[in-house]
Amino acid sequence: MQMTKRLIDAHIHLDMYENEERQAILNDLEKAQVDALIAVSNHLASSRQILKLAQSDNRIKPAIGYHPEQALPNELELNALMELIDSRLRDIVAIGEVGLPYYLRQDNPDLDLQGYIDVLERFVQKAAACDKPVVLHAIYEDADVTCDLMENYGITKAHFHWFKGEDHIVQRLIKNGYVISVTPDVVYENEIQHIVKEMPLKQILVETDGPWPFTGPFEESMTHPDMMHQSIKAIAALKHIDVIDAYEQIYENTCQFYHL
Ligand SMILES: [Zn+2]
Repeated sequence: MQMTKRLIDAHIHLDMYENEERQAILNDLEKAQVDALIAVSNHLASSRQILKLAQSDNRIKPAIGYHPEQALPNELELNALMELIDSRLRDIVAIGEVGLPYYLRQDNPDLDLQGYIDVLERFVQKAAACDKPVVLHAIYEDADVTCDLMENYGITKAHFHWFKGEDHIVQRLIKNGYVISVTPDVVYENEIQHIVKEMPLKQILVETDGPWPFTGPFEESMTHPDMMHQSIKAIAALKHIDVIDAYEQIYENTCQFYHL
């Protein structure tokens, strides 16, 4: 059997790194055994930058979206994003990052959630119409609201990135055939380790959400896709399987989900 330890970063914010950092990461990818990066966008300018980056490096697989943990987009920006999706359908692998503002709501309990649900619905509608996977930022109770929407639109390809949530939501994701991705915090976070034990390996991807920084053994290190090697080791240990099997299954999951 061919021993393989190849990786795909299923969720990274490439445009949020400094130029030199991004260049260093791209230069390192081969050495780090990383074949592709699912590069999500935060808003219109971010989407344009990600598309531009992808033009010069075909390992960068772009997704267009509007991150929910910020003020709502105005109608002009939202329409421009929808047009961008339509005009770049061949270049994008997914719609995202989209979702609901869980953390923003912790600091602003009066935040109007309905406005965010409406924006999410526009993207979900678009994903259904153009048959693209959806990359979701939706945790805890937001994951339930999001699942309602996905089910209403018959979305079968939903990726709940850095998923956190109670067992009943995990069960719902499993039943719907949705996937989750885990960040390097699977190495040290009990909550994430529990979810990995519950979720079938076929529904797990790995990601960095870079440049988001991590603690534990990654304290003070720039978030880099090579950290996912430690994530895979942790997942294999939690699942009591051979580490090579974990690499191969997770790689295959990602290729299948994103049509790579
Ligand atoms: Zn993200």
